Amino acid sequence: MKKWALPVGWANVTADKMRSIGNELEIWGHLNTRIVTCLLCGQSSRVIHSHYQRTLTDLPISEYCVQLVLQVRRFRCQNPKCPRKTFAKPLTGIAPGFLNKLQAAK
Ligand SMILES: [Zn+2]
Repeated sequence: MKKWALPVGWANVTADKMRSIGNELEIWGHLNTRIVTCLLCGQSSRVIHSHYQRTLTDLPISEYCVQLVLQVRRFRCQNPKCPRKTFAKPLTGIAPGFLNKLQAAK
């Protein structure tokens, strides 16, 4: 598989494919994380519940508008007493602007 150099801050992302259409650059990838800690109880899990896609807009590279289409894993919490049955790894460092907006809204 071909490897590409990704922008700084995307250290946990593996790029699966790239394509450019006009002045837009789409980068399709996934997080490298295989074990994630539940945000509520702290239990580690590697059991994948499902996947979903997030599309994030990044700063432009040269004349290209950059979009990251990220395949995100949703994990199942392994603690039977935890009220949070599924969770995804926060995209810290990848989507800081989005997280900052959420934190500011609280
Ligand atoms: Zn939990």
